[in-house]
Amino acid sequence: MKFLDEYRDADAAQQYARAIRQVVTRPWVLMELCGGQTHAIVKFGIDELLPPEISLVHGPGCPVCVTPIEIIDKAIALAARPDVIFCSFGDMLRVPGTDSDLLRVKAAGGDVRIVYSPLDAVRLAKENPGREVIFFAVGFETTAPANAMAVYQASRQGIENFTLLVSHVLVPPAMEAILSSPGNRVQGFLAAGHVCTVMGYTEYEPLAARYQVPIVVTGFEPLDILQGIIMCVRQLEEGRAEVENPYARVVRREGNEHAQRIVSEVFEVVPRKWRGIGSIAKSGLGLREGYRAYDAEQRFGIAEAVDEDTECISGLVMQGVKTPAECPAFGGRCCPEHPLGAPMVSNEGACSAYYRYRRVQRTPAIALPVGKQ
Ligand code: SF4
Repeated sequence: MKFLDEYRDADAAQQYARAIRQVVTRPWVLMELCGGQTHAIVKFGIDELLPPEISLVHGPGCPVCVTPIEIIDKAIALAARPDVIFCSFGDMLRVPGTDSDLLRVKAAGGDVRIVYSPLDAVRLAKENPGREVIFFAVGFETTAPANAMAVYQASRQGIENFTLLVSHVLVPPAMEAILSSPGNRVQGFLAAGHVCTVMGYTEYEPLAARYQVPIVVTGFEPLDILQGIIMCVRQLEEGRAEVENPYARVVRREGNEHAQRIVSEVFEVVPRKWRGIGSIAKSGLGLREGYRAYDAEQRFGIAEAVDEDTECISGLVMQGVKTPAECPAFGGRCCPEHPLGAPMVSNEGACSAYYRYRRVQRTPAIALPVGKQ
C-alpha cells in the first residue's frame, strides 16, 4: 500500500537498527509520548530490534487512559438520564468508572451513541430539540479543534440543547511534570507527530533547553519511530538537547494556525487532573466564559471527586516508571474482558498493547494438573 508499505520495510528497519547499534555507547531511556506509537512499537517489535542500551518507556499519551475516574463517573451519571443522548467516541465506552461503564449504561437502556465526529452530535441536537445532547470531549490537542468547532457551530446556529463534557489535556505540561519528578528516568522524548501537526513544536523548545532533553517529532510507522530513536540517541551521545523534526512530511514548526485559532476562541487553559498521575497546573482546556453555556458540568451540576482504585498502577506505567508487565494484575485480574484500568481497554493503552501483541508468560486463571498443561 503506497505511503504505508515503504514505512514498514523490514530491510530498512534492520539498517536503522544497525545504525543505532553503531551510535550507542551507553544506556539511555527514551519515552514515546503517544499511545499510537506505543502500539506500533509493541506490535512490530521495535523495542526488540534495539540494542540493550536503549530502553523505551511509555508516556501518558493515551487520551482515554488519562481521563480521570470522576469524569467517567460524571459521564455515566449523565448518560443514564432519560432526557439525554450521550455521544462519545467508541473507545470511551468500556473505560471503567467507580462502579460501571458507559457500555453498561447503554445495555441498561441509556441512550449512549458512538459518533465519529462532534459535529455528528451537533446534528443530533438539531434533530432532537426535545432532548439534551452531550458530547464527551476527551483527548489531547489533536481532538480539541473539532470539539471547539462543534461548540462554535452550535453557538452560531443557536442550538441550545448541545453541551460538552470536557476533559481535554495538553502534552507539554505533562512532559514537564515527568521531567521535574524526583523519580524521572526519561532522557529523551519521541514527541507525538499528530499533536505537533496541530500545535507545531515551538512549545517544546524551552523544555528541551531547560531540562537538557532531546525531543524528536516522530510519526507512527515503524521507520518513523526508528528514525526518531536514532536522532534522539545521536543527540544524547553528542551532548545536544534540541527539538528536531524528521516528520516534516506532516508537521510544520508553527503547526496548523487555523486549528489553533478555533481552539483558543472556544477554550482556555485550566488545571486538569490526570488519571493515575494527579492534578497538573495549566495542563487542560476548559470552555471560555463566553461558551460556558455549552459546558455539561455547569448545566447539569454533577458529582463529586472519588478516590481511584489503588490496584491499578497506570499512573506509574504512564510516567515510564513501570511497564505493564510489571503490574501484578496484568493478564490475570486485569484483562480486556475484566479491565481494572483504562490502559487495558483503550486502543492506545500500553497495557492493551502488551496484552495483545507481547508474548509474556501469564499465570493461568485455573491451575491445570501436572501433565495436562
Ligand atoms: S494491567 Fe490493568 S491494573 Fe495494571 S496498570 Fe494496566 S490497566 Fe492498570
